[in-house]
Amino acid sequence: MTTLSLTGLTKTFPGTEGAAVRDLSFVVESGSLTALLGPSGAGKTTTMKLIAGLLAPDAGEITLDGAPITHLPPERREVAMVFQAPLLFPHLTVAQNVGFGLKMRGQTAADSASAVAEMLDRVRLTGLGDRRPSQLSGGQQQRAALARALILRPRVLLLDEPLSNLDPALRDEMRSLIRSLQRETGTTTLVITHDQAEAVALADCIGLLLDGRLAQYDIPEAFYRRPATEAVARFFGGVNFIPGTARGGQFHSALGPMALPAGSAQGDHLLTIRPESLRLGPGENARDATVTALTFLGTQTRVDLSVGGIALQALAPPDAARTVGPGDRITVALPPEALWLLPAS
Ligand code: ADP
Ligand code: MG
Repeated sequence: MTTLSLTGLTKTFPGTEGAAVRDLSFVVESGSLTALLGPSGAGKTTTMKLIAGLLAPDAGEITLDGAPITHLPPERREVAMVFQAPLLFPHLTVAQNVGFGLKMRGQTAADSASAVAEMLDRVRLTGLGDRRPSQLSGGQQQRAALARALILRPRVLLLDEPLSNLDPALRDEMRSLIRSLQRETGTTTLVITHDQAEAVALADCIGLLLDGRLAQYDIPEAFYRRPATEAVARFFGGVNFIPGTARGGQFHSALGPMALPAGSAQGDHLLTIRPESLRLGPGENARDATVTALTFLGTQTRVDLSVGGIALQALAPPDAARTVGPGDRITVALPPEALWLLPAS
């Protein structure tokens, strides 16, 4: 069991403006799975290559259980990385690919045969060891790459967008496989993804990278209930933002005074409420609203509202169009416990 810790990690590529990764610090607890989340270009792969030793940082430190590995060559870090494209050796069989690392450690094919067979079982490739990678589906190749990394019992496993080349059905299967293998082996794992739903479904903790900086590191639920900034809230689908001032337990804005949850901050802020937390109907902090649009989303209906000249969005059941329509005057409640204050932008 290994705790991975990054402190002040910074990397600028020569000839580029601004750092790809800036002053990055976080801890992946021993045996846990963290998702490193962010849009394309945020610095996720760069971070992973720094951890794996494929890039050297300009500043900062990486430790495993407190021991620095920042200046060790990749092969001495006990960190395994699986890339977005599986990168199997095409001229080797699947079994030879999976056993490759053991061979590099001096084991013969006979020595490693049972470990390879066991690993193939674990990633559900039983009986496919004699095939070439080209005879496997994309999902199977991805699982072979995972087996090749796990067979070395790395202290830290790094997976770069392991699901993004897979179609949706396979993605669910691969996600469950990663989660169950990770639980079984207890390997400290960092998974890169640009998909917030995937991060939430997979990870114990999420580090959200925006423009090379860590915007928030937290448990998945916190990104919905307690986002650190407007940018974090927006990345997680937040759409309702109301500028105003918190004073004496109330929020004063264009919507008039509204009760805040106990212990809320004071002063100028941006109030946010999740679209799924807005209630169509009476309740605490009720307001008159005009329905401006309805959009059927399949499992839900998006209801666009104008409240005191401010545009808000609510999510309602899929059959909402039976009871409300554009132009209707309705009551909408903003439950105090669902209100969250962001720093004023
Ligand atoms: P992500 O994996 O989050 O999509 P990357 O870590 O690949 O992002 O890239 C972060 C930033 O660094 C991007 O602006 C990218 O263009 C830049 N970058 C990545 N690799 C290199 C490189 N080898 N040389 C120059 N710039 C690079
Ligand atoms: Mg990347």
